Amino acid sequence: MLAVQEFFENSDYAVSVVDLVNHFKEEMNKATVYRILSRMESEGMIHSFNGMDGLTWYAACKHCSHDHHEDQHPHFQCKKCGRVECLEISLPIPKVKDHKIDSEIVLLVGECNNCQS
Ligand SMILES: [Zn+2]
Ligand SMILES: [Zn+2]
Ligand SMILES: [Zn+2]
Repeated sequence: MLAVQEFFENSDYAVSVVDLVNHFKEEMNKATVYRILSRMESEGMIHSFNGMDGLTWYAACKHCSHDHHEDQHPHFQCKKCGRVECLEISLPIPKVKDHKIDSEIVLLVGECNNCQS
């Protein structure tokens, strides 16, 4: 678990579950990586969301603990290099007639700073 923890501490970007499994394939098998990720997520160390490729992505939590785990921010995926990052902004939850909305999962897609030049 420590190796995975350190991996997230040293990364400013989100990482897909496929890349994580690949990254640790010398040290642990897929099932172990999945188990560690779900444990870290329930501890409030990381959070997960879906990328535009349909994969699950994980990113480090900044302000969460195991009893307060809330990552309502949108995520951004660059369509050129594929990098995914957390956006520290909050979007208003839209009002939809006859629906009670508790949360939203927003993925913004575009070009990152590096890819625009
Ligand atoms: Zn969190
Ligand atoms: Zn990019
Ligand atoms: Zn995030």
